[in-house]
Amino acid sequence: WAKKDGRNRVAEFDAERHRTAVARFELSARMPHALDAGEFVVDYQPLVRLTDQRLVGVEALVRWEQPGGERIGPDVFIPIAEETGLIVPLGRWVLAEACRQAVRWREEHPGTQLFVSVNLAARQVREAGIVDDVTRVLADTGWPAHALQLELTESDLMGTTGEPLDALRDLAAMGVRIAIDDFGTGYSNLAYLRTLPVHALKLAGPFVTRPFAAIPEAGGERDRDEVDLEVLALLIELAHTLGLSVTAEVVETSLQLERLRKLGCDTGQGWYFAPPVPASAVPALLRGPVGPA
Ligand code: C2E
Ligand code: MG
Ligand code: MG
Ligand code: MG
Repeated sequence: WAKKDGRNRVAEFDAERHRTAVARFELSARMPHALDAGEFVVDYQPLVRLTDQRLVGVEALVRWEQPGGERIGPDVFIPIAEETGLIVPLGRWVLAEACRQAVRWREEHPGTQLFVSVNLAARQVREAGIVDDVTRVLADTGWPAHALQLELTESDLMGTTGEPLDALRDLAAMGVRIAIDDFGTGYSNLAYLRTLPVHALKLAGPFVTRPFAAIPEAGGERDRDEVDLEVLALLIELAHTLGLSVTAEVVETSLQLERLRKLGCDTGQGWYFAPPVPASAVPALLRGPVGPA
């Protein structure tokens, strides 16, 4: 910063920080009422089997629809809800809503084979009676445990020990699948992975798009793409060795799809197939291949 206007910049920066803090505070204050008022909605993003591009599951992704019509994304309000603790009732609501909706799809389209994947915040596993919550939702809705997947981020999962870990084991014993979300963004102890009750691994975007782009010298003289591809291949192989199924996040191009398919990756998710869509758009996706054939 130039000395001359340094003070101004600091003032501007403070003002901006202040605005952000106020906006966050307002959102956090409005959130409990918004939950009661039904302002949260769930969209669903297809999880697609790579061999034939059939829809095998959907991920529930929550959005906040303001009374004025403006939509706020989860990247904005989920961190706030995690801080205030509202994530516990909000997360419980998303779980119930997704299961209720999945039962409706199955009733309206008999024979539907679909699993529903719901994101769990660390706090839901740490503080709340998550096993009771899930048990109750499954009992109330009639959705089968084996068709439910719960996603925890790699960093949340790696820090899970004691009672929360027991809770995950109990959920797994009920038949619920546990997936590691955003895998590759943290620092997994791969040996430790084996001890966790995990069924699936969701490879974070960078592995799919451009792995290790931040390490220009990776591979030395060799083509960097070649090295990236080998790392991706090893990761998929490792996951399979551990008995995990692999989902690639952020599949955006046919080239990525082709590459992942060749490497034996099981499922994919991303704009190439479909963005998150409203519940009403899911039945049409059950019929044929999802995304460009
Ligand atoms: P996530 O669980 O990793 O979900 C995937 C995110 O990637 C979604 O963002 C999705 O819209 C986006 N995405 C999907 N395909 C593509 C693609 O091809 N390209 C790109 N660039 N992005 C793609 P979204 O819906 O904004 O959600 C963001 C995050 O918010 C989620 O990341 C998840 O961590 C959190 N979240 C959403 N719903 C819930 C919830 O009900 N509970 C909790 N605890 N967290 C949630
Ligand atoms: Mg997720
Ligand atoms: Mg993810
Ligand atoms: Mg995420």
